[in-house]
Amino acid sequence: MTVITRFAPSPTGYLHVGGARTALFSYLFARANNGQFILRIEDTDRERSTDESVQAIFEGMAWLGLENDGEVYFQTKRFPQYQEKVQQLLDENKAYYCTCSKERLDEIREAQMKAGGKPRYDGKCRDLNLSDSDDAVVRFRNPQDGEVTFDDYVRGVITTSNQELDDLIIARPDGTPTYNFTVVIDDIDMNISHVIRGDDHINNTPRQINIYQALGADLPKFAHLPMILGDDGARLSKRHGAVGVMEYAKDGYLPEAVLNYLVRLGWSHEDKELFTKEEMIELFDLKKVNKAPSAFNTSKLNWINQQYIQQADSSRLADLLKTRLDVLGVIVPDSINLVQVVDMFKSRAVTINEMADSALFLFDDIKQYDEKAVKKVFKQSAVLPFETLINKMSAVEDWADANLHGLIEDTVNELEVGFGKVGQPLRVALTGQSSGPANDEIMQVLGKQESINRTQNALNFLMEKLSNQRN
Ligand code: GLU
Repeated sequence: MTVITRFAPSPTGYLHVGGARTALFSYLFARANNGQFILRIEDTDRERSTDESVQAIFEGMAWLGLENDGEVYFQTKRFPQYQEKVQQLLDENKAYYCTCSKERLDEIREAQMKAGGKPRYDGKCRDLNLSDSDDAVVRFRNPQDGEVTFDDYVRGVITTSNQELDDLIIARPDGTPTYNFTVVIDDIDMNISHVIRGDDHINNTPRQINIYQALGADLPKFAHLPMILGDDGARLSKRHGAVGVMEYAKDGYLPEAVLNYLVRLGWSHEDKELFTKEEMIELFDLKKVNKAPSAFNTSKLNWINQQYIQQADSSRLADLLKTRLDVLGVIVPDSINLVQVVDMFKSRAVTINEMADSALFLFDDIKQYDEKAVKKVFKQSAVLPFETLINKMSAVEDWADANLHGLIEDTVNELEVGFGKVGQPLRVALTGQSSGPANDEIMQVLGKQESINRTQNALNFLMEKLSNQRN
């Protein structure tokens, strides 16, 4: 059997985490089986569908590297096909016109709910043999007896009695088809072998199966993926923060990290956490998808991102860092090489944005020293270390090749003081803070002149402080 899967988003918002996970699992299953992965935009709801959202879905899929095969389908371009199938069902008496008013439907719904039952259409027009009219909808003639059974990859065997299903509207009075109908027609026409989707659709599946059968079509296999919860146990929603995948791009996450995080939402392979895309394709198994909902865990996403940043090529990260610095309005001086900046922060940064924030001190003069640091290390005892460091820095001829760590060590030895007596004031001079990367690495990135300037500025600041204290 040729495996063909599809991702069928409704373009009513950005590509969110749940949708991206569905897309990924469908993609992996297709790739693992040398099959095809189709993208279908379910845009029949004209009021809620937008072009921006279609673009956002394309953008998110491209960012994650989930390339689809063949053309992208749009349901709005397929109305003739749907109409033809509606007509076929009408002709075969498998569908019928219904003119029940909204008021009547509301009334029966209310009465059924009052009686403690499920609201469902009572079949009033089922055997009236009505013809088309301006206010007529088309209903599918659902079987009244028997049951519908399917074996879901994730949930196992699910059986629903036909008595629980009612006659679904498949076309509105204006002739436009409804969701449950278009999905079936498309999945048949596109030869979808495996329908992989969120389990919010699980109640639609028996209804859809009846439509397949009415059309004499073979059934695909189904896999309903468990929902994703937020850290607090509630269904993941906007309120949990960045749930659109492109938000993660903006927040400085790498696409391969987000993809790796997504594959672990509801699926695992032994105790392995990090998967390349090739490994995902090789190891992914639809049968091993959890039944239980999976919870979104930001600290895990952060950990994964950190691992990928450490492994990533520095010049690629430098480009991402540059993009982020542009957003922040930072002008990077020509003298600074961003690849060196990346190398300095790569081992500890969680996101590119965090890396940019940590690196900000490099790109502009230090406007203010941290108050606590000033109190602690800008003392008389720092004067001589600053002077000695400035002299030694000035004497360096080839900065790029210089042993700057040795330069600091020489200062320590010459002055016969502890390392901290030189290192700490120097760090505050170079960064404005008492923490940060190693001094020699910072000096390497800043270059000779800027390192001297910063040390000199700190010395001037210190001298003024000391003279104020004396007066
Ligand atoms: N368009 C539906 C949605 O976005 C998905 C339909 C399906 O996968 O069958 O929820």
